[in-house]
Amino acid sequence: MSIEHWMFFGTFAQKDFFEYPQKGTYDGVILNANMVAHAPAGLAAFLQEKRAGGKYLIDPLTHAFQHDPSVIADGEGETKSSIRSLAEHYGDPILSLAGKRPLRPKDLAGEALANVVNRCVAFQREYLPANMKKTDAAKYLEDQATQEPYAVVAPYFFLTEATIDQWLAVCVESVQLTRKAVAAEGPRVFGSVVVSQGVVTNKVAREKVAGAFASTSADGFLLWVDNLDEQSAGGSELAGLISLARALRDGTREVINIHGGYFSVLVAGAAGANAMSGVAHGPEFGEFRSVVPVGGGIPIARYYVPKLHARVRYRDALRMFREQGWLDKATVFHEAVCNCAECQATLSGDPGRFTLFGEGNAKSVRRRQGIVRIEFPTREASQRCLKHYLHQKRREYLQAASAPKALLLRELAEGAELFEEVAGLDGVAHLRLWETVLRG
Ligand SMILES: [Zn+2]
Repeated sequence: MSIEHWMFFGTFAQKDFFEYPQKGTYDGVILNANMVAHAPAGLAAFLQEKRAGGKYLIDPLTHAFQHDPSVIADGEGETKSSIRSLAEHYGDPILSLAGKRPLRPKDLAGEALANVVNRCVAFQREYLPANMKKTDAAKYLEDQATQEPYAVVAPYFFLTEATIDQWLAVCVESVQLTRKAVAAEGPRVFGSVVVSQGVVTNKVAREKVAGAFASTSADGFLLWVDNLDEQSAGGSELAGLISLARALRDGTREVINIHGGYFSVLVAGAAGANAMSGVAHGPEFGEFRSVVPVGGGIPIARYYVPKLHARVRYRDALRMFREQGWLDKATVFHEAVCNCAECQATLSGDPGRFTLFGEGNAKSVRRRQGIVRIEFPTREASQRCLKHYLHQKRREYLQAASAPKALLLRELAEGAELFEEVAGLDGVAHLRLWETVLRG
């Protein structure tokens, strides 16, 4: 069974990577609603030029308005302009409260929720298609010129153990209202289940959330556990993630973990009995994400170590590979670490050229403690790391979808064995924990 490979749209500088390493690598693209509100013409052109006929979704980001206004503020303390544009699409009460105080369930009583749902549905279905009509590409694309999203995502709010009782009912009603607003011949309707790690590890809370969402008429779900870094997570968080996904999936429903790493990819394949239908990651901000602050993300250039299934700081990767003797010869490196096209091209037969993955420039940056010098990766180094990463991700999705469970789990154990000496026990602990959790 194939695993859907979704990727978040981050910045326009990365738009060419949505066909990398080859056309058809990604089943779909997720766009953040504030970017759609802020740069509709650019995104309409991107979808037509890079993703014509392909699936896309818009994450409506409605949770942005339930937090303290500081998490949607820019450096000057003003509401970010993209979030302000989004609020204008959603109307009141969101528009009048954005930047002033957090939205509460009470604010959505009566007709208010239905109004927000209707505007949010219209925004997702109409705004980009309207902009697609105006692009240069529209002239020659004809029937593919305008395209609705694959699914409309119901407005949603972040659920913690402490707020389930108030927000869950709003989220469930929102899914039902979205279903009503999307006509029978319209796109699919997805709910979005965005929860704290506490909800995932608390059986009562988890089952309550899963049961409530599963009872709706949603065709599928987006799943996002706040800041769940699969590499540092405990066994109960990982087991809870599987249980929640499986309950939502209910056999056939689509469940896409929108911020997941290799553990989730395994869960979506034979090793997790297809408990998810797909997994998304960003090209830049990695494989887990906090619910706040909303949007943004700091670019990091790290080398993805295939057998560790982890992004490792360049310096650490260099040290480990040197200690193992894997940088003695290019052929040894390609055998032991990676033989993707990007690594082949970067090394060009010379293992000394591995340093090209770590090129950086020191820049002065103002921090609370004063001006500090921080080394930033060069654009070329970032792109090399990204290309190598995307080669490896593609390989992971394909392997997890087709290989038998026993082989996938053995590969985790072998990776831990191989790297323990240079990465330390803690550096490989995630591989052993994933193996244990997936063995069940
Ligand atoms: Zn590579």
